This record gives sequence, structure tokens and C-alpha cells, in this order.
Amino acid sequence: MTKTIDREINCVLCKDAYTPVLGPGEGEKSYRIYCSSCVNWIAVGRANPLRLGLRIVLGLRDEALSLAIQTCLSSCSCGSNFSCDSGGRCQTCIGKIERETKSSSSTNKDFTSPWNSDEMKKLQPKFLEYILGSEEGAENLNLKQLIEKFEAGKMGAEEYMEAVESLQFRESNQVSVVQAWAMTMDPEELFAAVEDYDLVERYGSRIIVSIASALESSIGRPVLTTLNNEMDQFDQITQQELRTFMRKIGGGF
Ligand SMILES: [Zn+2]
Ligand SMILES: [Zn+2]
Repeated sequence: MTKTIDREINCVLCKDAYTPVLGPGEGEKSYRIYCSSCVNWIAVGRANPLRLGLRIVLGLRDEALSLAIQTCLSSCSCGSNFSCDSGGRCQTCIGKIERETKSSSSTNKDFTSPWNSDEMKKLQPKFLEYILGSEEGAENLNLKQLIEKFEAGKMGAEEYMEAVESLQFRESNQVSVVQAWAMTMDPEELFAAVEDYDLVERYGSRIIVSIASALESSIGRPVLTTLNNEMDQFDQITQQELRTFMRKIGGGF
């Protein structure tokens, strides 16, 4: 659906033309951004909240999007930066180097936190503005209001279905941006900010779970650990809902 700008460049090693990876290919869940010097790589998921946030809030697509993501990555353990053009090396050459250096191509670089926090912080105000501004200026009805309007016969079935769909779309966008915002925050200050901005009131307790899962993908802290740690600061009802959720995913015992 998305058109990628095929910006071909010549490989510095074999001189063949190749196209830098600008995002996941059709049907792929993620794509790899390689280091510009060695063969370490970071996988960025199609649904990575930061990626979604940059799309939704800044409207970035294709090359601009992948460059923005690349900018947010911290540097490789070898000291070089991760880059969509793999430092001018084509996939074939990267593959060769991987085999020669016997560094298994299937091992991702063990990065608990692949993101550069300084770069991430720069995005924070934009994401926050979107989250806090999303309520104002929208004469968009919530689900309850939609149902009432439909049941009162003030809305046709088709119009109602369309409105519900667009509501779901808006909500899922908002959750993605909240997750992206969470990734830009200092984890130690994150949940105090969640309280300050009344995000639980706005989105329900499920937003805490969404934030915890964003944290798992950004700093590798398991969702359950985060929920356990932060549990105390929420009200009784929220705590109860979180416990129910934890029992569900905890399973087994
Ligand atoms: Zn090459
Ligand atoms: Zn490297």
C-alpha cells in the first residue's frame, strides 16, 4: 500500500546497486537496521509504538520515517551508528561478512535498550501535545453517546458502524501515541506522569498495561514486573483491574 522511494545506491564493497531498507516489506512484521560498521542489527517492528507515534503525530512515512527511527537509536557496541543503508553495504555483502565472522545471523544484538534517550526526549513534547490535545476540538462522540444516538433513531445503521469504526481507529492511534510517549520518558518518572496527566481516567486501566508493554519493548522490563512495581500508586479499582489482568496473563498458578 505504501510506496517506497527506491533510492538505489551502490554498495561500497561490491559496487552493485541496492536499496536501503526503509521499513518492513509486504507481510513482514519487522525490519532490520544494521550497524554501519559491523554486522549487529536491531529489529524494528512494524507496530513498534515509536514508529506508529512518528507516523501518527508527525505524519512521517517511508524514508523520512525510517530516518527518524534511525536517529532515535543508540549507537552500536562497536561505537558506530545503526543506519538504514548498513553503512553503504548491500544485503549480499552483509550476509557474507556475517558468515565469515561466524557471528550467527540469527542473533539480534542483545540490546535491552536500543533507544537513544536524548533523541527520544526531543519527541516527548510533540507526543504529549497530541495526547492532551486529542480531547479538545473533537466533537467526536464516545461509544456510549454513539449507542444512545443510534438507539434513539438519530443515526442510521451504516453511519453508526462507520462512526464506531472511526472511534476505534482514533482510540488505537491514541494508545499508540501514549506508548510512544512512554518510551520517551525516564522509566522512573513515567508513572508519576501517568497520574499527573490523568491518563487512567482518560483511557481506563488498560492504558497502564499498554504502557507497561511499551516499556518491555523499549527497556526490556517485563510487563508483570512493571505492573507489580507500580501497583501501589493506583486507586483500588484500578489495582483490582490490574490484578485481574495479571492473573490472566500470569496463568499457570
Ligand atoms: Zn555489496
Ligand atoms: Zn557495530
